[in-house]
Amino acid sequence: MDATEKALVLKVGCFREADCWVRLFTPTRGIFNAFAFGGSRSRRRFVGCLDPLSLVLFSIGSDRRGAYSVLGEGSLLHNFPGIRADAAAAGLAANCVRFVEAVEIDPSDAAPVYHLLLNTLYLLDSGQGSPDFVPWFFRARLAFAMGYDPDFENCGTCGSPVSQGRGHLFVVEQGQVVCAACHSVGKPLDGLARSVSPGVLRALEWIRESDPGDWGRVVLDREVRRQVSQLVEMFVAYHLGLSWENGIYKKV
Ligand SMILES: [Zn+2]
Repeated sequence: MDATEKALVLKVGCFREADCWVRLFTPTRGIFNAFAFGGSRSRRRFVGCLDPLSLVLFSIGSDRRGAYSVLGEGSLLHNFPGIRADAAAAGLAANCVRFVEAVEIDPSDAAPVYHLLLNTLYLLDSGQGSPDFVPWFFRARLAFAMGYDPDFENCGTCGSPVSQGRGHLFVVEQGQVVCAACHSVGKPLDGLARSVSPGVLRALEWIRESDPGDWGRVVLDREVRRQVSQLVEMFVAYHLGLSWENGIYKKV
């Protein structure tokens, strides 16, 4: 029995004369490959559906032995014309897709990541979304969506709010803020910790709560932006094991 599901097409390749493989991302299965037999010939079954960055309603079945997925037919829902027409937006979209692929998402974590990616593509499609923010906001939100979800508002040790005052630390391993009082009296902290101002914590909390639709109107002080993006990259490198170097995501 075929199931019908919305899927984002990430990559397409063709083999033999008329057959294609398609790399898909769906909210229930995560990222997987499926075959579209006759895909490059059968214009009627897959009209406009076999291009990267297409959102398609596919009927998805499997071969007789259940060894691989097979696409029955597709209906194109959206193909992000604003991204296709703009090389900068296409570059940002490709960066986000590469990150999702590098993370190797378990199907049980797929739904929030799928919606995060889709909403980011809608932002880019509408011509918003600065290269100064989108890539690392996306990485931060993806890490938070996968359960590495820090509390930026309260001290992880005593629970008091950290919206005021100075001398708070953010401990990358635990994803916790430790207030000035706690780390001055307590035992020394293990591992990677950075001092953070209330402004940096507010910005981190804003990103944590934000939807990609909000990212078009963000304004961040330069110094806050520098500190927040550094913390995000440390957090992502530690918890997801990935860092962005020379145009590719590397395991760290
Ligand atoms: Zn405390």
